[in-house]
Amino acid sequence: MSLDVVGHEGYVTVSGELSIDLELACSRCLEPTKEHTVIPFFEQFKPASGETEQGDEDEDEEFVEVTGDRLDLKPYLEEALLVFMPFAPLCAKDCKGLCQTCGENLNERTCSCKHEKIDPRFEALKDLFKE
Ligand SMILES: [Zn+2]
Ligand SMILES: [Zn+2]
Repeated sequence: MSLDVVGHEGYVTVSGELSIDLELACSRCLEPTKEHTVIPFFEQFKPASGETEQGDEDEDEEFVEVTGDRLDLKPYLEEALLVFMPFAPLCAKDCKGLCQTCGENLNERTCSCKHEKIDPRFEALKDLFKE
């Protein structure tokens, strides 16, 4: 993680990149999958004025007001992380997922379950051909 904190008169700019390795479960097969993400971070902070400004709300829109004398970046970094977090991570673009019937990981082996949707009308006929 490399963040530059630059103090200006009256406000502070924090910018940089968060480089993180996430370990998430693949949304299809649940295998752990490593995701390397670089998240750009830019935020401007200024001390809270304490005044309740009305009418000109957009004036300080780009600034995050900070109360107290310590700037705690953690919640902002977490927020940035959440925004960039993959919603449905996949171990591979063509992950085959788990078999709906037996739970086998279909990336590793194929199971003997039938995966095609069987028309219920043919389902009834199937028994006719049983040996
Ligand atoms: Zn997967
Ligand atoms: Zn199966």
